[in-house]
Amino acid sequence: MTFRELGLVEPILRALEDKNYTEPTPIQAQAIPLVLDRRDVLGSAQTGTGKTAAFAIPIIQLIHKIEGDSDRKPTLRALIVTPTRELAIQIEENIDDYSKYTNIKQAVIFGGVKQGRQVETIRRGINILVATPGRLLDLHSQGLVDLSQIKLFVLDEADRMLDMGFINDIKKLLKILPTKRQSLFFSATMPDNIVTLSDKILIDPARIEVAPVSSAAETVQQFVYYTNRDSKKDLLNHILKNPDIDQVLLFSRTKHGADRITRNLKKVNIKSAAIHGDKAQNQRQRALQEFKDGRVRVLVATDIAARGIDIDKLKYVINYDVPNEPETYVHRIGRSGRAGEEGIAISICEPEENAYVKDVEKLIKQKLKIVNDSPYPQTDKPMTAAEKKEWNKEKQRRKQEFFANRKKNGGGGRGGYRR
Ligand code: AMP
Repeated sequence: MTFRELGLVEPILRALEDKNYTEPTPIQAQAIPLVLDRRDVLGSAQTGTGKTAAFAIPIIQLIHKIEGDSDRKPTLRALIVTPTRELAIQIEENIDDYSKYTNIKQAVIFGGVKQGRQVETIRRGINILVATPGRLLDLHSQGLVDLSQIKLFVLDEADRMLDMGFINDIKKLLKILPTKRQSLFFSATMPDNIVTLSDKILIDPARIEVAPVSSAAETVQQFVYYTNRDSKKDLLNHILKNPDIDQVLLFSRTKHGADRITRNLKKVNIKSAAIHGDKAQNQRQRALQEFKDGRVRVLVATDIAARGIDIDKLKYVINYDVPNEPETYVHRIGRSGRAGEEGIAISICEPEENAYVKDVEKLIKQKLKIVNDSPYPQTDKPMTAAEKKEWNKEKQRRKQEFFANRKKNGGGGRGGYRR
């Protein structure tokens, strides 16, 4: 399935290409045609599944069709309500990316900051508004936002919204919104009170469901090596001495990290390739092909780049770091053990990441198996808050130094700064 097959218009396809999205995630493949078909949608899906694009992309397309390339002042036609400021900002940024080759204008509003700049953006004219409930009602009651032309309404993370006590705000909002509209309702869980709320909002909705991210964890054997930051490289080489690990997808948090890992593997004659956002599309495709053909043993990927890559029967996943979002961990290991195959996930954990392992264990409701017979056991302690602050400063300094040197030397060149 491609985005083109979903019937998206050229300016959106181009923007998705810039984001290096190669194929729609399951929720996108389901939701996009339904929304374009003007259906109401009830979606059970959580963050990390590609949910934002699943509603944002078709909304952009529907508005783009109405607005075209006209120069008149934009009309506010779509409202997306989400519980937290962070989510709101993230959604707005995504809309900005996906709509960059259209005329669409959007804004984000949330509480806890002065309203002046938010009001100014709305006043200049927008098509899409992303909002947290409190600030939205506040600006509406001041007559600063006109919701009378809303044709599309999204309630995002409905269960969290209720947990955070927003039910009365939502009820108030429903009284203000035009009744003739298309509504999309997303929630990670669907307890009774959420279903009741959705009944009030949706008319004959299409139901879509994507597996909660934690389900991947059940089919994969999961191991963790506790080690020190400086031993990770040697430990990885040690792990890869096992000839059974003939093909492995290795995750790195950062692009620089991914490049550094491939350089280190080269030194010990292990064939690897990195795919991440700084690599051109043809470089990524080549790396992937070489990996599939068995010419590359270790494919090193960042989380974003790994989305949408399709590899059959991958047995091994290595986490070179433990992600601070446990959902990301579950996504990573979900790349192994597909289609009834046995999967093995190995995580390499430095002291700073010990707490992240606990978060993961809480989410997947099981313990990772600790590998004790390691030549590089963890002996360092996690940094104190003060040490961490110092270290972050030092990291920043090294980064600046690295880029300053690179600029001085005419840019380009190999290598990265050490984190
Ligand atoms: P969300 O579930 O909306 O929070 O999305 C999670 C992450 O996946 C975000 O960083 C998106 O940019 C990314 N993403 C969404 N759709 C795709 C796709 N089709 N291909 C690759 N990455 C995607």
